[in-house]
Formats: sequence, C-alpha cells, structure tokens
Amino acid sequence: MEWFYDRFSYDLGIDLGTANTLVHVRGVGIVIREPSVVAVNSQTGQVLAVGDEAKNMIGRTPSSIKAIRPLRDGVIADFDITEKMLRFFIKKAAKSQRGRFIPPRVIVGIPSGITEVEKRAVIDSASRAGARQVFLIEEPMAAAIGANLQVQEPHGSIIVDIGGGTTEVAVISLGGIVSSMSIKIAGDEFDEAIVNFAKQQFNLLIGERMAEKVKIEIGSAFPMKEEKSTLMRGRDLISGLPKTIRVTSVEVREALEDSIDALVKAVKDTLESTSPELSADIYDRGIVLAGGGALLMNLDKRISQATQIATFVAPDPLSCVVKGTQKVLENIGSLKGVLIAEVVNR
Ligand code: ADP
Ligand code: MG
Repeated sequence: MEWFYDRFSYDLGIDLGTANTLVHVRGVGIVIREPSVVAVNSQTGQVLAVGDEAKNMIGRTPSSIKAIRPLRDGVIADFDITEKMLRFFIKKAAKSQRGRFIPPRVIVGIPSGITEVEKRAVIDSASRAGARQVFLIEEPMAAAIGANLQVQEPHGSIIVDIGGGTTEVAVISLGGIVSSMSIKIAGDEFDEAIVNFAKQQFNLLIGERMAEKVKIEIGSAFPMKEEKSTLMRGRDLISGLPKTIRVTSVEVREALEDSIDALVKAVKDTLESTSPELSADIYDRGIVLAGGGALLMNLDKRISQATQIATFVAPDPLSCVVKGTQKVLENIGSLKGVLIAEVVNR
C-alpha cells in the first residue's frame, strides 16, 4: 500500500505562524511562503484576499476592507478566518499536485500555548480542507528538529523561536518539551517600539511596514562594528505633511532596548527553572535561535553575553518550523513520539 500512497497522494508540512505561513510538499520543497494575513469585507465578512495579496492591503484599505492577522498573538483570535486561511493555503499547495487524487497527510506546527479548543479547530480546519490525516506538532519542537537539534537524545537542548507575535523558549530532551515559556514580545513588538520612538522623538507618524523595514535594515540588539543609518518616511504630526528623517542604528537599538530586555529575561528565567543536568547539556551545546526575529542583528551576541552561553542562529531561521514538520513526515516511524495529536479521517 505504501507505493500506492506515494504515487497517488502527498504530504504537507505547514508552519502556521503568527506572521508567516509556510507550506512544504514532501519531495518537492517549500511551495508557499506568505504572510498570515486575510483581507475581509468588514460589512459582509467575505474573504477578499489571503497571504501576499492581503498584506499589500494593510494600511491602504478603504474602511470597507479589513486586513486581519488571525493568529497575531499566538492564539487563534478568529477561528473562522483562521480556517479560511488554512484552507486557502492547503488548496493552493494541492494545485501543484495534480494527478495525486488521494487527499494529503498534513502536519501542522502550532504555538505551544494553544488551548485544546484551538487545537481542535486547527484539526477540523485541515480536515475540512481535505486532509486525510492530520498531525499537530508544537512549534518549538518543530523548530528544534528543523534546526537539526538532536531532540530524541537524552541530552538537553534549548531553542528560542522569535516570531512575529510570540517568542517561545523551550528546553527539549528525549523527544519532549521539558519546560517552555511563551511571551508576546517578538518582531511585532519591535516594530511597535520603532513606531513609538518615531512619534516621541521626531513627531513622525510611521506605519507598521515602515517600522519593520527600518528594523530589518538597521535594527540590532548589541553594538555593531560599524553603526548604520537609514531613512524613515512618514507623516509629520504637526504639519500633517509627509516627512523623511534619517535614523541611526544606535537610536533604533535604544528604542528596542525594553523589548530585547524582556526577551533576554525569558531565556534566563527558562534556564533558571531547568534541572542542573539539563543545564550542563545546554551549557555544552549552546542556545539556538530560530524564527525571523533571530535575524535581528547581534541578537545572538546579546543573548550570549547575558547568559554566558554560546548562542547560534539556526541556518535559514524563517524556515525551521516548516523544515521540522517535513522531517517528521519523512521519518514518521521514528519521530511519531514528538507529535501531540493525530487524527485519521479516512
Ligand atoms: P511567525 O513564526 O510568528 O510567523 P516568523 O518566524 O515568520 O514569525 O518571523 C517573522 C518576524 O521576523 C517578523 O516580525 C519580521 O519582521 C521579522 N524579521 C524577518 N526578517 C528579519 C530581519 N532580517 N531582521 C529582523 N527581523 C526580521
Ligand atoms: Mg514561527
């Protein structure tokens, strides 16, 4: 039967992130990498666009259109919209699999703080979107597997996944999460800090996307060899006219300071609540950073300085979770234990 499924069906690994959704088709690669955004008509609730197309509408929508990030805070704020988004991405991925008429097996990475009701909603959504079998995995576990950590060994590892809405810190050993912490301080919070800084410092009102651009270009968590600067465009709060200001990486780092402090504290608190044996393993192996936020310049240095533990950014941190889901699908026999839920529909 194995050959039959290989020939006529396929497997999908999905990272349902607060900022981005990624979908991997086994044997093909990552086929979808789009923002977790849905544009709806605010009067009728009708979905107008999903993903890239919907993100382009943020901040530019007439009052009749609302751009929603249904998972913004790592909890499913809107089940209905989340389901529509998941369904859209599963259908889109299925398009590249014509001829494979047997519905796919789907594994979905979900935030570790998610409730039973929310888990059920994700399973139901994937089932209704046509999955023949649905598995759930906690994102930090998927991220650790995707970052090539040896999660099943009797050694402690620590992964810090800094996404858009949440940062998840997890200590993993023997295929399970030993301790974890989730805080709502991550990429979005960094952007917000830059928006507030522009307002207070320059009376300049900037949008979320401009703040993100400044963060990606010159944001950092620790002094850089060569500090940088960039232009920040927005609207002057006093004159009401468009205005451009040059900001430096030193200023932006100061704006990010409180958020970075909170993030570092979460890592330290998690380490403190870890058993001495696991702590010793972590000390030997180091801290691994995943998620888009791991790309903030010198965040690894900052964490390493604060904890006195070597810290590394995983290769391609934005793809760790989806790569992890895929590895689990490829080795379902040996890795089944890391999954937290499984539902067979047919
Ligand atoms: P999630 O898993 O929550 O969907 P991601 O792992 O996709 O989140 O990361 C998205 C976050 O990473 C966003 O806040 C984005 O601004 C941030 N990000 C992406 N690239 C960079 C970069 N080069 N420097 C700093 N932050 C980045
Ligand atoms: Mg993520």
